[in-house]
Amino acid sequence: AAKDAGKNQVTVYAPELAAARDRRIRLIADLRRALANEEFTVHYQPVVELDTGRVTAVEALVRWTPPGQPPIPPMDFIPAAEESGLIGQLGTWVLRRSLRDVGDWYERYGISVTVNVSGRQLREPGIADLILAELAANRLPGSALVVEITETVLVAETGPEEAAARAILERLREHGVRIAVDDFGTGYSSLAYLRTLPVDILKIDRAFVQESGGEADPVAFLRAMVQMARSLHLSTVAEAVETPAQATRLRQLHCPLAQGYHFSRPVPADELDALLSTGEGRIDVDSSLAA
Ligand code: C2E
Ligand code: MG
Ligand code: MG
Ligand code: MG
Repeated sequence: AAKDAGKNQVTVYAPELAAARDRRIRLIADLRRALANEEFTVHYQPVVELDTGRVTAVEALVRWTPPGQPPIPPMDFIPAAEESGLIGQLGTWVLRRSLRDVGDWYERYGISVTVNVSGRQLREPGIADLILAELAANRLPGSALVVEITETVLVAETGPEEAAARAILERLREHGVRIAVDDFGTGYSSLAYLRTLPVDILKIDRAFVQESGGEADPVAFLRAMVQMARSLHLSTVAEAVETPAQATRLRQLHCPLAQGYHFSRPVPADELDALLSTGEGRIDVDSSLAA
C-alpha cells in the first residue's frame, strides 16, 4: 500500500521533479567542467579589528564565472557541489588558491585567511593531512589559517561521526589552525554544548547584526552573544556589517572584530593588495563610525 501511495505521489509531481533533477544533473556536469577549466576565482573580504581598523584576516569566498555568463553566487552551486561530492575537489582548489594568496599578506601584515569548509569536506578521509600539507607547501604556520564551519556541521554529527569531526578539528588546532563557527545563532547549539567544542572564534550571523543600530535597536541578543563568547574565551566576528550605526553599536558592545560591506566588499586578490597597501594593513574605521 505504501508503494502504491508513493507511486501516486510520483505521478502527481513527476514533471516538476524530473525537471528539477535534470537541472541538478546539468549543474553538476557544468561544475565538473568548470573545475577542469578553472572557471573559479576567490574573492577576499577583510575582517577588521573594530578598535584599531587593523585587518586581522580575510575570508576566502569562491566565485564561479562560466565563460560569457554573469557570476553564479556560491549558494546556487555549493549545495550541488556537496551533494555530488565535487566539494572535495572544489574545496581543495579554494584552499590552495587562498594559501598561495595569503602568503604575502601574512608576511607583511600578519593577516590570516579564513576558509569555509563544508560538512561533507570535513568527512573526506585525510582532510586534516591535506590542510596541513598545503600549509607546509606554502611555508605557512597553522596560525595563518582559520577553518570556518557552520554549527550544524558539528551538531548534526553524532556518535563516531561526531568524534571523527572533533578529532580533525583538534588535530588542526594542535598545529595552530584556528576554528571558527560560521553563522552562529542560526542553529541550535546551546551554551553548554558550545563549551565542549574545539573552537576559537564565533561568527555572529547577519540576522543579529543587521537588527542592531536601527530605530528600535533590539540589541539584547547581540550583547548576550558577545558576552557569552568572551566568557568562553572565544573571539567574536560580527558578519555583514552594512551601516556606520551597526559598526558603532558593535564597538560599544566590545565586539572585537567585524566584516561587512561597510568596511569592504569581497574583492579579487589584486584589489585587496591595493586596499592593504593604501592603508598599510588597516581600514579607516573611525571616520566611518556614526557620531
Ligand atoms: P558565509 O561564509 O557566511 O560568507 C559570508 C557571506 O556574506 C558572503 O556571501 C559575503 O559576500 C556576504 N557578505 C559579506 N558582507 C556582507 C554585508 O555587509 N551584507 C550582506 N548582505 N552580505 C555580506 P557569498 O560570498 O555569496 O557566500 C555565501 C556563502 O557561500 C558563504 O556564507 C558560505 O557559506 C558559502 N561559501 C562561499 N565560498 C565558499 C567556499 O569556498 N567553500 C564552501 N564550502 N562554502 C563557501
Ligand atoms: Mg564564512
Ligand atoms: Mg557566515
Ligand atoms: Mg553561511
